[in-house]
Amino acid sequence: MPIEAGPVRLLLPAAPYDATVQAMVLSAPNDLSLRDVEEPVAGSGEVIVEVAACGVCRTDLQIVSGDIEMRKRPVIPGHQVVGRIVGTGERVGLAWLAGACGRCRQCLAARENLCELADFRGWTVDGGYAERVAARRDFAFALPDGMSDIEAAPLLCAGIIGYRSLRLSGVEPGGRLGLFGFGSSAHLAIQVARHWGCDVFVFSRSPAEHDLARELGAVWVGGYDDPPPEPLDAAVTFAPAGSVVVSALAAVGPAGTVAINAIHLDGIPAFSYDLLWRERVLRSVANFTRDDAREFLALAAEIPIRAQTQTFALAEAPQALARLAAGEVQGSAVLTVG
Ligand SMILES: [Zn+2]
Ligand SMILES: [Zn+2]
Repeated sequence: MPIEAGPVRLLLPAAPYDATVQAMVLSAPNDLSLRDVEEPVAGSGEVIVEVAACGVCRTDLQIVSGDIEMRKRPVIPGHQVVGRIVGTGERVGLAWLAGACGRCRQCLAARENLCELADFRGWTVDGGYAERVAARRDFAFALPDGMSDIEAAPLLCAGIIGYRSLRLSGVEPGGRLGLFGFGSSAHLAIQVARHWGCDVFVFSRSPAEHDLARELGAVWVGGYDDPPPEPLDAAVTFAPAGSVVVSALAAVGPAGTVAINAIHLDGIPAFSYDLLWRERVLRSVANFTRDDAREFLALAAEIPIRAQTQTFALAEAPQALARLAAGEVQGSAVLTVG
């Protein structure tokens, strides 16, 4: 049951008037620094979450670098937040979708991921690179027991959106699935696909990613342009490069779908219609719905999915982002907070 804002606010300890918390604040593109900021206050329907861990996502990198335009300035990045609700102590996760209007055409059609008035954590509202963050109670997810705060963090974007991508690729149990790029999201998606009995083919430039893919059960690994031994039924692209989308189209067979898991992509190079002919489908994957999140988190506990993590302190967020940009993070980077 959702908890109303009023009672929750009564449970908050009275904060001194000038209480501050530490946060990594993005003032302008490429200007991310540790600051003392005013402690967040819960608005109507909101709770305050004491942050324990926050995953570092490629989208954070794109917001910090300016590839994705800032929508709130300054903003605290971070949308894979694990923490505890102040007052109740309940462990929750906060993810990219921070709010939807519930009334627009998209929301009414069960597509709140496409809500025109949606809020996004760490972009249009403050995120989890901070000791405390305010969040809508109805967009905070209960997290399964049996996984640590650090292990749970990457599930909240890399995991949930990877799961939606798998579903939208249309891959069926036992089918042949291609994963193009093998970072944080793909290393979680492969665990779902293997659970469904799929044969997974992994395309990546990095020998370290090839090793991790084999370890996690890939039947084949190769470079982006290496032809798989047989045409694929479906593919998901994770690499933030338009050329990889064309490689993926070339690898799927007739009626195969390529789902693009990227919020920002370089231009897609022109390609021959032959690559799309015979009812191949190319589609993007945008955000997620709360149902995706609940389904995936339950599945993650059941499988169970194990995230490989590299941890950094809150103040080391710039280093974590730099390592992600350089392709030096195996699995998922996570900031430990508090
Ligand atoms: Zn809406
Ligand atoms: Zn993300």
